Amino acid sequence: MSSFDLNALVRPNVRTLKPYQSARDSIQSGVLLDANENPYPVLKDGIQLNRYPDPNQAELRRALADYVGLDAPNVLAGAGSDEVLDWIFKVFLQPGKDLAAILEPTYGMYRVQADIMGVEAVGLSLHGEDFSFSASRYLQEAPRKARVAFLCSPNNPTGNLLEGEEVLKLCRDWGKIVVLDEAYVEFADRPSMAAQVRAHPNLVIMRTLSKAFGRAAIRLGYALASPQIIEYFRKVKAPYNLNALTQRQGVLALQEGPSRLEKILSERSRLRRALQNIPAVGPIFASQCNFLLFKVADASLLCRKLLERGVVVRDRSSMPGLADTIRVSIGRPEENDLFLHEFRRLVAPESATAAASQGRQPPGGHHA
Ligand code: PMP
Repeated sequence: MSSFDLNALVRPNVRTLKPYQSARDSIQSGVLLDANENPYPVLKDGIQLNRYPDPNQAELRRALADYVGLDAPNVLAGAGSDEVLDWIFKVFLQPGKDLAAILEPTYGMYRVQADIMGVEAVGLSLHGEDFSFSASRYLQEAPRKARVAFLCSPNNPTGNLLEGEEVLKLCRDWGKIVVLDEAYVEFADRPSMAAQVRAHPNLVIMRTLSKAFGRAAIRLGYALASPQIIEYFRKVKAPYNLNALTQRQGVLALQEGPSRLEKILSERSRLRRALQNIPAVGPIFASQCNFLLFKVADASLLCRKLLERGVVVRDRSSMPGLADTIRVSIGRPEENDLFLHEFRRLVAPESATAAASQGRQPPGGHHA
C-alpha cells in the first residue's frame, strides 16, 4: 500500500484557489434580486428559464448517488464526460510538468484533452491479444512524472473489461490518481466499481448518460470520487456548468432507467453470430459494450465503401495494435441488417444474394 496525499497532487494554484461564489450557491428562493436575472418567467416544462440553474445540482446529484449506491458528496455532473476530463486535467496536471499515462488503444479524448491543456501524454500498452491490464506491469512502466492514469473499462474500442482486482491493485500500490472511465459499464456483465471510491481515495470514476441511458444529446456525464476530490472539481467547474433542462432530464432519465438495454444486448449477440458466419471476417473481439470490433482485410477501404452506401462505421485501423479493424455500433435491428447486407455485398457478393433470397437479414426486415 503506497501513501496517498491528495493535496500534494493538486496543482498549487487550484489548492489555494478561491472559487467564484455564484448567486445561487446557497439561496434559490425568495425575492431574487441578486443575480441580474430577467424577473419575468420564461417557462419550459415547468422550468423557469429566466433563472440560473442550481450550481450544486442538488436533485440530480442525489438521484445519481442513489443510482450508483454512493452519497451526493461523491458525485458531480458535467456537460458530458468530456467536462469531467477537463476537471481532472485542471485539478491534477500541470502543463509542461506532469504526465498523463494513457493505456492504449483506447478512447481518443484523453490524449486530445492532454494536447489542449499542454500536458504531455505517455501511451502505455494494454497487454496481449485480449488487451488486458496488469497493475505490476504498469507500475514498472509508468514514468515517475505520471500523475494520472487513464483506464477505460469496458474499453473503447477493444470492448473488454479490465480486471477489477488489477485496477484496485493499481489504486493501492500507486500513490497517484487512477481514472476509470466506465462509460459503457451498463452493457457489461460485471457491475460498476463505483462502490470502490469509498475505499480508494485516489480513484475517480467517470460515467455518462450518453450510452445505456440514450441521452447523448443532453450532455450529462458525471464523476464519482471521494468528497475531497469532488470538492476540488467543484472549485474548477464553471459555476452554472449544467443547464436546468439537462438537470431535469437527467433526473427523469434515472427514474426511467437504461433505454432498451436488453434489446441492444440481444442485437449484439445476433450481429456477432452473423459476422462469424462471414468467411472474410477475422477475429471478432469479445465486447462488453454497445459495439463490436472485428478484423477484416482492407478495413479502411471497406469503411469508405460502406459510407458510399450510406452505412457509417468506424475504421479503427490506425490505432496501436488494431491494424485492419472496424468498430460497428449496435444499431436497431433493421440498421444492423442493412449494415450486414451492405457488408456482405462488399466482401462476399454471392452469399449476400443467397442470404437475401433465403430471407436471412433482408434490409429493413426486422423491427425493434
Ligand atoms: N468515454 C468513452 C470511453 C467514450 O467512448 C465516450 C464517447 N464515445 C465518452 C466517454 C464520452 O461520453 P460523453 O458523451 O459523456 O462525453
